[in-house]
Formats: sequence, structure tokens, C-alpha cells
Amino acid sequence: MKLEIAFLYHDLMNIYGDRGNIITLSQRARWRGIETTVTELSVGDPVDPDKYDFYFFGGGQDKEQYAVADDLKGEKGAALKEAAAKGAVFLAVCGGYQLLGHYYRPDNGPDLLGIGLLDVHTIAGNKRCIGNVIIQSEFGTLVAFENHSGKTYLGPQARPLGRSEIGYGNNAEDGNEGAIQNNVFGCYLHGSLLPKNPHFADHLLKLALQRRYGPVELTPLDDTVEMAAHRAALQRARDTR
Ligand code: GLN
Repeated sequence: MKLEIAFLYHDLMNIYGDRGNIITLSQRARWRGIETTVTELSVGDPVDPDKYDFYFFGGGQDKEQYAVADDLKGEKGAALKEAAAKGAVFLAVCGGYQLLGHYYRPDNGPDLLGIGLLDVHTIAGNKRCIGNVIIQSEFGTLVAFENHSGKTYLGPQARPLGRSEIGYGNNAEDGNEGAIQNNVFGCYLHGSLLPKNPHFADHLLKLALQRRYGPVELTPLDDTVEMAAHRAALQRARDTR
């Protein structure tokens, strides 16, 4: 099998080590003998909506988000929407998450329009939500780190990724974290997310492969180290609550 990964705005939206998600997903595929290609796509780069199985869209500061939002207007955003409609998997974190929604309203200045892959909108809050995160989700417990001022609110087309055990979640109000809509996953989970949550990484990998091959089963990997990191992060989050 082969896997085509697109790393969106790799040079602008990649804070707090979000590149670790690309490394984890591609390595967990390669360890299973799956031929994996990672393509970096930034401002001005066209997107072929039929080519990629998985898109990663990381976090970035407001100033980067202005440049990216501008690039997403027109055919780029349309191509990403076409890819999602054809079953491609998206994982978007923080700033990327916000721009997959309808809009991000920064503290000052005009709304940054998103591409509406997720039925969410975001409004800058007056405090930063920073700290370790634990959420309970349908994919198991997820551990991460968050740093955002944006408060994201879900519309009826999206469902939460999970419930916050520790952390502010989408908006420090409703107790939910992240959003899922079809194969599009958005969240505030930096860390980076996938290295310490191999069970979620494999869920996304299976989804991305089934776009091209139908239902697949992944051979189990020895996740002793990954789960040791997961447990350590759980302990740290609970100890520093
Ligand atoms: N600028 C956005 C916010 O602060 C996203 C920040 C980020 O990607 N960590 O909410």
C-alpha cells in the first residue's frame, strides 16, 4: 500500500513541534511497509484534490494565520473541500483548526475567513488557555498541551472530539475539546499530539488508507515507549492540575 501525506503550510503553521504529527504518522506507516510520501504545501502551492490521503494543518500565531487565510481563498480552499468530500483525512491543530472552520475573529482586525470544512467558528478570548491537557474521547484517552486564546464554538454539523478531563477545551465553557466532521479532525492538542497517542495515530492512519484501499487492518506495533510517554504525560497533567 502507499500513503500520500500533505503537510499544509509547513513553514508557517508548525509551532510547538506540530511537525511531530507528520513524523509519527509517516513512520507508523513505514514500520508497516506502507510506502509513504510527505509533500510540503505552502502559500501559492496548488493542491491536487485527488492526490493526498492525509492533510496536516498545524498551529501558528495570528500573523501567520492572516497570510494563510488569504491563501485559502479561491481555488486552494475549494480543492481542500473537494479532497475532504472525497474522503481525505484532515488533522488540524489550533490555528489550523480555526481556519478549517467558518471564521476566526482575532482580537483586533477583520475576521479571518476559514474554508468551512468544520462547522465551527472561533473568537479570540481575553486570556490565553495554556497547559497540559487530558481528554476522554471515543478513541481513548488523549494527552496533549494547549496554548490558544481562541474560543471555538461548534455548530450542529460537527461533534466534539472529546470531553476535557484537564484543560480548557474549545472555549473554557462547554467542557468539550476539538471537533469532528466526516474525516476532518480539529483540536487544540499540541504536544505534538500523535507521538504520545499512538492509538489515535493508528485510527487516522486506517482512515487515510481506506480512502484508497477500503477497510484495512494494521499490524500491531510495539508501543511500549509511546505508551510510557503517554502515561508520563497523564501523570504530569494530573500532578500539576
Ligand atoms: N492564534 C490562535 C490563538 O491564539 C492560534 C494559536 C496557535 O495555533 N497555538 O488561538
